Amino acid sequence: MKVIPIRSALAAAPVDPAALPPPGSPLADRRGREVHDLRISVTDRCNFRCVYCMPREVFDKDYPFLPRMDLLSFEEILRVARLFVARGVRKIRITGGEPLLRKNIERLIEMLAPLGAELTLTTNGVLLPRLAQKLKDAGLNRVTVSLDALDDALFRRMNDADYPVSQVLEGIAAAAEAGLGPIKVNMVVKRGTNDVDIEAMARRFRGSGHILRFIEFMDVGSSNGWKMDEVLPSSEVVARIHRHFPLEPVDPNYSGEVAERWRYVDGGGEIGVISSVTQAFCSTCTRIRLSTEGKLYTCLFAQAGHDLRSLLRAEADDIRLDAAIASVWQGREDRYSEIRTAHTAAARKIEMSYIGG
Ligand code: SAM
Repeated sequence: MKVIPIRSALAAAPVDPAALPPPGSPLADRRGREVHDLRISVTDRCNFRCVYCMPREVFDKDYPFLPRMDLLSFEEILRVARLFVARGVRKIRITGGEPLLRKNIERLIEMLAPLGAELTLTTNGVLLPRLAQKLKDAGLNRVTVSLDALDDALFRRMNDADYPVSQVLEGIAAAAEAGLGPIKVNMVVKRGTNDVDIEAMARRFRGSGHILRFIEFMDVGSSNGWKMDEVLPSSEVVARIHRHFPLEPVDPNYSGEVAERWRYVDGGGEIGVISSVTQAFCSTCTRIRLSTEGKLYTCLFAQAGHDLRSLLRAEADDIRLDAAIASVWQGREDRYSEIRTAHTAAARKIEMSYIGG
């Protein structure tokens, strides 16, 4: 039987393709989870310096962002994405850093669209007025826009790059106009920083057709000074909104949906809460991440990835690449959020801006 050696992080355990499910069949990891979602980071750079993600003191002018030649090319991304779709991925999310900073991003969308997976993108929104229509025309299905406050001074403090709220709202409007809705608007809630704006955000997006989602502040990366005290549990977010606008729970759209859904009793639409800290959802996690430089990560809180770029650049054929991908997913057993402690939270982890949100 021929054993194919795979370089770098995968080299320690050479992959025997005969021991893997045949190419094209779905993959399950050691906890029985199948891979359904691929998140692709297309840049580690961002025009924002959100205090909880890319604090300016760390991500300053001397920060060693990846050189261009280290980034996967669009062709390399397409190859990996195609193999993942054959292995059961149904949804692809483009992220970063700020994905709209990647030159000709609409070209990547155009290349990925024919794969047939649902194609989405997460952005801070400021470049959407320029790009929304091009992205839609290229085949993008939906966008998620991050917006952490409605109060302009507070928002500028949070993004720490002096971007006004109005610019993000214009981005959301442009995306809606281009047909990239329903738009999900993500607000990361930091207790004592922007939780004062929860009710205002709810009021602003009620009845808009957009879905506002509240994300618990997570201990991703190692530079955001995460403290448990600054996590506002989603249950409290729901209770606060419910006092003004009564809410009732809604069933998930599909098993493994990350956001817990709630709808306004009066028909004003729905909100979602993502509670990675207080209600871990590792047992139903179907996500894998491809970093900007071509490493695979099976967990947002991972400390190390599996290098695919060296295989891609060594001109490995699809069988070999597929075997590498399959062995990474099949070897997966992480469940970080279920076992989080003060000790794990302090461990050195991959930055969100690099791995992709
Ligand atoms: N630049 C894009 C954006 O702003 O959406 C995409 C990348 S950003 C890393 C993706 C998402 O991760 C954003 O919604 C951001 O707010 C969220 N995020 C970053 N750091 C986080 C943290 N520590 N806890 C929770 N969410 C975080």
